[in-house]
Order: sequence, then C-alpha cells, then structure tokens
Amino acid sequence: MTYDKNNIFAKILRGEIPCKKVYENDYVLSFYDINPQKKIHVLVIPKGPYIDLDHFNKNASDKEIIEFNKAISHVSKLLNISNEERGYRLLSNIGTDGGQEVPHLHYHIFGGEKIGKMVS
Ligand code: 5GP
Repeated sequence: MTYDKNNIFAKILRGEIPCKKVYENDYVLSFYDINPQKKIHVLVIPKGPYIDLDHFNKNASDKEIIEFNKAISHVSKLLNISNEERGYRLLSNIGTDGGQEVPHLHYHIFGGEKIGKMVS
C-alpha cells in the first residue's frame, strides 16, 4: 500500500485546507474533527506520510513515534480532559474492518462527556 499524497489530512498539513488547530509542533498536528461525534472530538496526526499505525510503527523514526505518543497526552492536557481532570477515549481506525476513512494515521480523542460503550 502506498501513501496517498492527496488525502484530506495531507492537504490540511500542506495548508491547502483549513483546520481548527489545537496544537502543532515539528512532528504532529492536532485539530478539531469537522464532524464531532462527542462534545470534544479532536484528531492528532503525525506530520510524516504514514497510512495507519502499522505503517507508522514500521517506517517512522523512534523520535517521530515518541513525539506522536507524547502529543496525545499533551493535547489531552490542553483540552483539560487528561486523566487528572475528566478522562477521555483514544481511538484509531485502521483499514477496512477498522472503518478508516482517511488514509493518514490519526488518533481520535473523544471527551468532555461520558463516552459510553467501548464499541457499538
Ligand atoms: P476515520 O474514519 O478515518 O477514522 O476518521 C476520519 C475523520 O476525519 C472523521 O471523523 C471525519 O469527520 C474527519 N474529517 C474528514 N474530513 C475532514 C476535514 O476536512 N477536516 C477535519 N477537521 N476533519 C475531517
């Protein structure tokens, strides 16, 4: 599988499509989901061209992997939903059965209210 440079998140990263930014550094971008499923619904993506978590873990540098993981906790703090505050759900859809629509690795962060059943 090859990375599709024209996927919507690649366009957001290139600044061709706007987003409502939560956080950005050299390795990651975090922004609000355009179609929120919960009171807080934010996405965290690596800046590198990775399709999903498997592709990322196989091809990304250790620094990219560490920074991506750390960014999730940092964003949860910025949103005031870390486990010290209210808690949140972290979700990554992978491939066809996982229901992944955008082929650029992303974690969904859901919070701001009780998230409910783990899988529906
Ligand atoms: P997936 O189903 O791939 O895990 O999730 C893709 C997510 O990207 C969906 O929750 C969808 O609402 C969000 N999304 C799709 N297009 C855009 C966009 O142009 N901007 C933003 N902010 N989110 C998007």
